[in-house]
Amino acid sequence: MPELPEVETIVSDLKPVLTGRFFVDLIGTHENSILGAMDNVAAIRDAKVIEVFRRGKFINILFENEYVMTIHLRMSGRIISCDLSDEALRFERTRIDFNGVSLRFCDVRKFGKVWIAKTADYEEVTGISRLGVEPLNGDLSVSGFIKMMKGRKGAVKKWLLDQSKVAGIGNIYADEGCFYAGIRPGTKMENLGEKELGKLFEGVIKALKQGVKNRGTSISDFQDAYGHRGKNQELLYVYGRGGEKCLECEKVLKRTVVAGRGTVYCETCQS
Ligand SMILES: [Zn+2]
Repeated sequence: MPELPEVETIVSDLKPVLTGRFFVDLIGTHENSILGAMDNVAAIRDAKVIEVFRRGKFINILFENEYVMTIHLRMSGRIISCDLSDEALRFERTRIDFNGVSLRFCDVRKFGKVWIAKTADYEEVTGISRLGVEPLNGDLSVSGFIKMMKGRKGAVKKWLLDQSKVAGIGNIYADEGCFYAGIRPGTKMENLGEKELGKLFEGVIKALKQGVKNRGTSISDFQDAYGHRGKNQELLYVYGRGGEKCLECEKVLKRTVVAGRGTVYCETCQS
């Protein structure tokens, strides 16, 4: 699933492509994905895009007439920027046309969603209102993180994945962040002292920043808005590497399940 760095990559690609363009039409072949958009398609016709921004794992396209189109890629969604005349892509479920450019929403598993709502209530409509703090824009400090997580009951990874606490972390960056911190993903949060919570914060931030810098992780099927793969998969220490040797100590990495998710860690480097 695309996480914060992957969605950030797509948003940074879409910003120059869409800003200043006018919406033309939205056509979807999978009704469930566009249910939250259809009532307001007419309201944004010919409206100008003034901003494209990310919140958690959501892509938001803001129009001058105070409407927002929000896209969530969920499990397997991709947004590819195409020419209007290009033929439908493989697994294309929705096309969103602007003057001079066509976004194609391709989604093998069909869990992705598109909404169109007024700026006053799009956060409520899309679920963005339930998101916690953004980790990379300066809103989250180490002391804020410690306060948020201290004494929470249950696995560290469960809390990192909780979108209502820190927004945008998924399986990849939770495992990588725990490795950087030297803390096992299954460690109970209530057993971590402030020093360890500080390390966990630094580890997660480092993993996310590295993901953004390398334009996302393409271990499954992530592609940017131009259909190119990211580079971060070449720099992963643990995610997707269960059974392989630790790059730090050469011990075989352990694969387990934490918070219902496949999880990889090093028994030596993480305690
Ligand atoms: Zn190791």
